[in-house]
Amino acid sequence: MSGVNEIRSMFLDYFRKNGHEIVPSSPLVPRNDPTLMFTNAGMVQFKNVFTGLEQRPYSTAATAQKCVRAGGKHNDLDNVGYTARHHTFFEMLGNFSFGDYFKERAIELAWNLITKEYGLDAKRLLVTVYHTDEEAFGLWKKIAGFSDDRIIRIPTSDNFWAMGDTGPCGPCSEIFYDHGEQIWGGPPGSAEEDGDRFIEIWNLVFMQYEQVTKEERIDLPRPSIDTGMGLERIAAVLQGQHDNYDIDLFRALIAASEDATGVKAEGDRRASHRVIADHLRSSAFLIADGVLPSNEGRGYVLRRIMRRAMRHAQLLGAEEPLMWKLLPALVGQMGRAYPELVRAEALISETLKLEETRFRKTLERGLNLLAEASAGLGEGDQFNGETAFKLYDTYGFPLDLTQDALRAKGITVDTDAFSAAMERQKAEARANWAGSGEAATETIWFELKEKHGATDFLGYDTESAEGVIQ
Ligand code: ATP
Ligand code: MG
Ligand code: MG
Ligand code: MG
Repeated sequence: MSGVNEIRSMFLDYFRKNGHEIVPSSPLVPRNDPTLMFTNAGMVQFKNVFTGLEQRPYSTAATAQKCVRAGGKHNDLDNVGYTARHHTFFEMLGNFSFGDYFKERAIELAWNLITKEYGLDAKRLLVTVYHTDEEAFGLWKKIAGFSDDRIIRIPTSDNFWAMGDTGPCGPCSEIFYDHGEQIWGGPPGSAEEDGDRFIEIWNLVFMQYEQVTKEERIDLPRPSIDTGMGLERIAAVLQGQHDNYDIDLFRALIAASEDATGVKAEGDRRASHRVIADHLRSSAFLIADGVLPSNEGRGYVLRRIMRRAMRHAQLLGAEEPLMWKLLPALVGQMGRAYPELVRAEALISETLKLEETRFRKTLERGLNLLAEASAGLGEGDQFNGETAFKLYDTYGFPLDLTQDALRAKGITVDTDAFSAAMERQKAEARANWAGSGEAATETIWFELKEKHGATDFLGYDTESAEGVIQ
């Protein structure tokens, strides 16, 4: 059985053998795209190469790319701990052609890797194509020998990729693995698609058009390829597991969390350990790439992730900060592939410890308020948005932490009332300052307030970590 580290190496070796340049992962904070919160796909570092703005000394490449999908367009935060296939941090394995090979070679390379090198059972595989992409349909028949019913035509934007409103775009084709009928879920395009039986492992994007204006789309003279396969998902398949959290890497992290808390990952404790293991990875990698917890922008997404995990640590009965204790296990698993983790280990450890020490001061009181305020509620009820705002403002509970806490009981939060309370507080603060005659000071004060928010005034002095934001 291959471990995650070996599966990653096999991928890169295979594409190296097939003439690709192996390019290191780019940082999680994108350098070339201020509009993007975090790097969320392998193609991000190559955007300008695809559009022709930038030249590279190679025309094909492969990477194992660090990705975070929490906040922004792709947000998988709420899925974590509950689906078998989502993480906030994951590695995307990808191969790229910049005007070099196209559809046929891309399909052939992918098919040979998964069926020959990785040895997956072809009978368990099926693919989707964009409904009008006859070329891809024909190529799958020819290369994989699929019967028509194993190639599913999808008419939605799920199978049509675009960089933005204008720029390169094109159909995509996704490879799914059928984990077997004992697991709930239906094939892509069906009503039961949301289940975890058929798991998407690899997305092949065929960039063949350029959207010039809203109305006009032209053929690209030299079409390109962008692919992405989740390392943890292919590892699950190769290790005979259905669930990403049962692969070697996650077992090691969850074992560390079980050891440190003395609580087994069973029954209703399972989700907590999974959330902790997942959030440990995203927190550690974000800190290693220069993000620190703060009250705005990227730093606030990090803080939300950290605090969410810290509530779960509390649920498991941890009596002192937990997250930093699990870090050596993560460094042991991933430090060789990502030396930045080793270099930043002391900083990550201190940051985790400090945040958890501080948050614990208000966490317990906040949880008591939350318990009281939700006592009479049950499945389908709404939690008071004003109280959710108080939890945010006074106890430092990010909204999604409150939502996560209520989720087990099927309770949702009245987010409209939450936003209204937030707006009201801002307006009141502004009114208090009106007419002071000190316009410049006022502006500065408001900027600071927007930046830091008014949270955490119960024993929490705000860290200034804004240097890393946008
Ligand atoms: P899904 O439909 O399962 O959410 P996706 O269509 O959003 O996946 P893509 O944007 O196509 O995913 O990304 C390419 C590949 O990256 C996916 O095929 C999958 O293997 C992997 N992947 C995407 N999101 C995650 C995630 N949150 N955690 C782990 N792997 C992921
Ligand atoms: Mg998704
Ligand atoms: Mg998908
Ligand atoms: Mg996809």
